[in-house]
Amino acid sequence: MIATPKLSVVIPVYNEEAGLAELFARLYPALDKLGCDFEIIFVNDGSMDRSAALLREQFQTRPDVTRVVLFNGNYGQHMAIMAGFERCRGERIVTLDADLQNPPEEIGNLMLEMDKGFDYVGSIRRKRQDMAWRRWASKAMNRTRERLTHIKMTDQGCMLRAYSRDIIDAINQSREVSTYIPALAYSFSHNPTEIEVEHEERSAGESKYSLYKLIRLNFDLVTGFSTVPLQVFSLIGFAISLFSIVFVIYLGIRRLIVGPEAEGLFTLFGIAFFLIGVTLFGIGLLGEYVGRIYQQVRERPRYLIQAVLEKTE
Ligand code: UDP
Ligand code: MG
Repeated sequence: MIATPKLSVVIPVYNEEAGLAELFARLYPALDKLGCDFEIIFVNDGSMDRSAALLREQFQTRPDVTRVVLFNGNYGQHMAIMAGFERCRGERIVTLDADLQNPPEEIGNLMLEMDKGFDYVGSIRRKRQDMAWRRWASKAMNRTRERLTHIKMTDQGCMLRAYSRDIIDAINQSREVSTYIPALAYSFSHNPTEIEVEHEERSAGESKYSLYKLIRLNFDLVTGFSTVPLQVFSLIGFAISLFSIVFVIYLGIRRLIVGPEAEGLFTLFGIAFFLIGVTLFGIGLLGEYVGRIYQQVRERPRYLIQAVLEKTE
């Protein structure tokens, strides 16, 4: 195995037994064709199916360029990628999903972009095979997120991305417990770019992300990379307080001039419900940040590794 290959490919694997054979069949030839030294790091994220066994087999077939990290449980896609990052040795690092939605043949194009001097190459799926409403939803979420966090990602759902060594070193130093890798990497890059890549239907198995998870992800992206929501909330609170002061003075004067009044009970309900809603949302929002702080200060290991398969010199 080469000490510092030109390229490391990091692939998280979770219950992908149905698609792994095809992934191997396409990934290895695609990389061999690039004509540079490479290594592939698979991280098995506690799969319950035969994925780990298949990865073991593949390691035995190509031990020269294959390394496998086996987690002892499911820690999520991004932790799996983190573990890959901590072990990869390449000058350039590419992340790829195991499900072949991003064709491995595109890695060559990412490398061409990096040759031009970019340190971060994102990707945009050319024609998305997803449903129309899902496309629309992700577009709307994108715009909001971009405004709040200043992280520009046209297509955040696409994990096929290339990073320079510097970015990966910075990520390894940051020790975040719950994060979104493409966004974190973007925040460390100084010369990012994006290219269009092909996009295919999931070849086998099913998506691990529901709509709920998609919404969660965007929430996490905003609270993980920006404190703007908290500031906005302070501003809302401030505006409502100002308004209340004016209102109280107005009511006081009315009391003196008109005398006691008991009308407008339901308007009062309306206002009270609105304010309770705003307050609850605020508490929830605070909770998001407190939860993050809690996770971070516990300082538990982010993931536990059961075994690492690699050729030792
Ligand atoms: N994945 C993982 N751990 C998880 C969920 C997913 O390692 O808990 C991997 C999965 O095997 C795949 C990649 O992350 O390689 C993306 O998952 P998926 O295709 O389900 O997500 P989607 O493409 O629907 O966003
Ligand atoms: Mg996928």
